[in-house]
Amino acid sequence: MMNCPKCSGDMEVSAYDEVKVDRCTHCGGLWFQADELARLRQDTWMADYILDTGDPHEGRKFDRVHSISCPDCGAVMREEFDEDQPHIVYEACPQGHGTFLDAGEFTDLVHHTFWDRFKRMH
Ligand SMILES: [Zn+2]
Ligand SMILES: [Zn+2]
Repeated sequence: MMNCPKCSGDMEVSAYDEVKVDRCTHCGGLWFQADELARLRQDTWMADYILDTGDPHEGRKFDRVHSISCPDCGAVMREEFDEDQPHIVYEACPQGHGTFLDAGEFTDLVHHTFWDRFKRMH
């Protein structure tokens, strides 16, 4: 059983199709392995409702916690700004093991991406 890299709470596995994401039972943060986040962003139908069940207010509190370590290799994760939505900052392993998103951030990411795409079509 994995522990949350941010608050060291217990992580539970939450599945969306064949993608399994670890979610913290304490802060609601989500750990996406390697390309899981990229895959879910392309196929986002309900993924946020199923996976991102944490309280965004809690998530915002934990957004201030920095310098966390990768649960896989222990390397200090670096902060990355989302290309499309620079207001969303997440932590990524420098070795590419995965990405950590605070509660509510995945929903934010998915929804804005959807609306941006919608607007581009019109
Ligand atoms: Zn946590
Ligand atoms: Zn790593």
